[in-house]
This record gives sequence, C-alpha cells and structure tokens, in this order.
Amino acid sequence: MKKIFAPWRMEYISKETESNKGKCIFCFPEKEYLVYKGRDFTIVMNKYPYTNGHIMVSPKRHGKNLDELTQGEITKLFTGVQFAYKALKKTYKPQGINIGINSGKCSGAGITNHLHVHLVPRWEGDTNFMPVLSDTKIISEHIEQSRERIKKALKEVMNG
Ligand SMILES: [Zn+2]
Repeated sequence: MKKIFAPWRMEYISKETESNKGKCIFCFPEKEYLVYKGRDFTIVMNKYPYTNGHIMVSPKRHGKNLDELTQGEITKLFTGVQFAYKALKKTYKPQGINIGINSGKCSGAGITNHLHVHLVPRWEGDTNFMPVLSDTKIISEHIEQSRERIKKALKEVMNG
C-alpha cells in the first residue's frame, strides 16, 4: 500500500457528551485544550496529537470552506498561523513544522464544519509518537503540559 504522508489526518475527534453536544470545538473550545481565543483567531491543542505540540488555528467565524473567507479573514487567520508557528519554534525548536488544511471529509478532516489549519512540529524519527503515547491518560497529561508551554511562548511572540 502506498503511504500518503499527511500527519494532520490524525484528527481531533470530539466526544459528544450532553454538555457539549453539537458544539463546535473552535467556537466553544474546551478549557483544557484552549491555547488562545481572541478577536481574530482561535488556537486549540489537538486532542489526538500526531506529535508533541500539534495545534490547530481557526478563523473566528464558523464556516467550512476556504473560499467562504474574506480577504480580511484570511489575513487574520494566517497572522494567527504565523504566531502559532513562532510559538512552536520557540517552545520546541523542532526540525520542521507541517502546516496543513483538510477540506472535506474524504481529505481526512475530522471536523468538517469549521475550517482550521494544523501545525505539526516534526523531528527526525518522530513517527513513533502515537504508538508510544497510546495511553489516553498519558496523552492528556502531556497535552496539558504542552498547552501551558505553548501558551506562554505565544504570549511572548504576540507581545513582540
Ligand atoms: Zn465553529
């Protein structure tokens, strides 16, 4: 089988509970995964990270397609992507960062109704991250720590 490389296909799959039923994770982010929510964009941790520091940036407005965004919204979204990129570089000093959008379910998108950009820090030989962290408890503790570190770095890069 030919392997298509797209780390952001490991999507956040929201568990529906009574309290969050039908709620979009970008419009109503869960506190423990929220990195930043401002006027222009939102940044959340991926619940099922491909690598340590896997985050997602979404535009403020709820909408699924790139062609629905205005020029202004694109600018704001990619300003957010740039801040997120800088914060990841500062936090992890990765050897690379994958940046990508899944548009539509067959592209691998887990959340299809609110556009978002994945940022996945990469290191040589990092492909074993998920199997290593297959324990859900370990993953969530890990994400909590990552979130605090990225939040701090983001504050620094956004304040120039
Ligand atoms: Zn939304």
